[in-house]
Amino acid sequence: MAYDRIYNFSAGPSMLPEEVLLKAQSEVMNYRGSGMSVMEMSHRSKVYDEIIKDAERLMREVMNIPDNYKVLFLQGGASLQFAMIPMNLMTKNGKADYICTGSFSSKAAEEAKKYGTVNIAATTKSENFARIPQQDELKLDPEADYVHICYNNTIYGSAWNYIPDTGKVPLVADMSSCIMSEPVDVSKFALIYAGAQKNVAPAGLTIVIIREDLLGEPLPFTPVMMNYAIMAKNDSMYNTPPCYPIYICKMVLEWLRDMGGLTVMRERNIKKANLLYDYLNTSKLFKASIQENSRSMMNVTFRTGDEELDAKFVKEATAAGMSNLKGHRSAGGMRASIYNAMPYEGVEYLVNFMKKFEEANS
Ligand SMILES: *Cc1c(COP(=O)(O)O)cnc(C)c1O
Repeated sequence: MAYDRIYNFSAGPSMLPEEVLLKAQSEVMNYRGSGMSVMEMSHRSKVYDEIIKDAERLMREVMNIPDNYKVLFLQGGASLQFAMIPMNLMTKNGKADYICTGSFSSKAAEEAKKYGTVNIAATTKSENFARIPQQDELKLDPEADYVHICYNNTIYGSAWNYIPDTGKVPLVADMSSCIMSEPVDVSKFALIYAGAQKNVAPAGLTIVIIREDLLGEPLPFTPVMMNYAIMAKNDSMYNTPPCYPIYICKMVLEWLRDMGGLTVMRERNIKKANLLYDYLNTSKLFKASIQENSRSMMNVTFRTGDEELDAKFVKEATAAGMSNLKGHRSAGGMRASIYNAMPYEGVEYLVNFMKKFEEANS
């Protein structure tokens, strides 16, 4: 690859499209005749206003976001949303349902307990989070203020293959590691949030897509900076927004639009994931960690069953120009994060390497 870049399988921050990086490079000293970098300009300037408005407009277009939803550009990462969501939404009955399918959904539930009653409506913890629960396993409370799910489990490598039916109760989804990887019916969700550093932009930007009727009075002690209604009223400009990540986000959205949108992105992602999973299904050395009906297209987890051999694999893969294939410390094994910006060739290179490794070690 150009610039001696390697295939980076990091779970986040992760690869960005080369086209976007090169465009950013070409504009870094003087953004379109403004005489300055986007990093240096006032967020209240006319030239920046166009960037943030374009980012929102493109996100609405690419994700097909209905008009009765606000798009917010916030900071604090997905982890701050673990607190913001209960502070803003646990306001009617003071309770919420959480479905625990991995590390981040469990963290979200723990944080929410500080602000009200948390009911664990389902969990697959006893099965080492190897699958997503089915609809009939969910013990939902019709009086809950909302139901929280993590749509793609970055660490364990699982993903929901259906949108749970929560009746009239608002559905809230952490989409940090799958946002914009495929078309999603936004109207089925009350709130979608994502840290941008997996699939959209550099770290520092958090995207929140929230249905307008949920913008109300948060719990009384809620900081201004954590109040959705205030952030929405000020078009994400109550204070200085994460200007540069929003600019990169805008260019990633242009890249998505120009390729044909999320339908095309989904086809590409399916092709990449299938290449890896098809091999895992036939390999005698490597096994996928997640059950077949719950596998993530974005984070593919696998193992040999022998920790020493896993370590040897990661070491040799690193030497061959593939970084960050070691699984998260809480899940073990290996993980290949193959987000939107990972080219098909990168997955092909990995699978060919795995085949050679299998031959040499069996
Ligand atoms: C990475 C990640 C988080 C944490 O994101 P931060 O932006 O670092 O707070 C939360 N949820 C999911 C699903 C993630 O992938």
